[in-house]
Amino acid sequence: MKIITSISEMQNLADTLRREGKTIGFVPTMGFLHEGHLSLMQRARQGSDSVIVSIFVNPTQFGPAEDFDRYPRDREGDRAKCEAAGVDVLFMPEAKEMYPEKQPVFITVEGISDVLEGAVRPGHYRGVATVVAKLFHIVKPHEAFFGQKDYQQCVVIKRMVRGLNMDVAISVLPTVREADGLAMSSRNSYLQPDERRAAATIFRALTAAERLVRSGVTEPQKLKHAMQSLLQEEPGLAVDYLEVAGPEDLTPLSSAAAGMVILIAVRLGRTRLIDNILIL
Ligand code: AMP
Repeated sequence: MKIITSISEMQNLADTLRREGKTIGFVPTMGFLHEGHLSLMQRARQGSDSVIVSIFVNPTQFGPAEDFDRYPRDREGDRAKCEAAGVDVLFMPEAKEMYPEKQPVFITVEGISDVLEGAVRPGHYRGVATVVAKLFHIVKPHEAFFGQKDYQQCVVIKRMVRGLNMDVAISVLPTVREADGLAMSSRNSYLQPDERRAAATIFRALTAAERLVRSGVTEPQKLKHAMQSLLQEEPGLAVDYLEVAGPEDLTPLSSAAAGMVILIAVRLGRTRLIDNILIL
């Protein structure tokens, strides 16, 4: 596995691969890799000649009071995991390589960036869209892989790609979970033992709503109410938002619809966790 930290070296290699007729599959991450990340790499490995993974904790997507400084990092562990997953190139630039000056251009995906997660984290999706666009220009992938765990992020990226005619296919893969249902996340490492136990309630609430839908209870208000009752049983867990929304545009649904996504964000102590379930 080749490790690259320079943008020009990465671009040159991407050009060479493309000239040789190789397809490039790309998995952008912030590192501290877990099974969720690895599932994206495995899928990329199946469908692409060359698999490129980036690890970059992107400062522009963190708010001033957020966890940029304490975001977990594990260079050596991540390198070994990528190697074992059959990754061809690990691109891990320093912040000053990606942002040598005050970033002069930002990409804002209108509307969708300001609701739900975007309403709680102003500027977050502007940072995400901008860094993903930069990474696409550096890695030049044919296909890029994202996790459904960050559902709204997937909608933002797809809209950016469509709106700017980027020549990249976006594939979204299912959320990988711990045995008790908690969505894998690098931020789970922040959780104290009692918080970790309580965190399983998030998925319990999502699956309870899914069961209700299957049994014929589909009104969003009833689903939210049932979920809130479950979540309230955990005193240390505070709900940031809980919404039943349309799967394409994330507008809140007031009546039952054929397809819906339930999105949730909670706080457990100092840790913020998000999750979602797609009910089609
Ligand atoms: P991150 O390192 O958290 O920025 O995530 C990098 C990529 O991995 C994103 O596309 C995430 O949606 C995806 N991802 C994170 N957690 C999971 C998970 N539990 N299952 C599947 N994909 C995930």
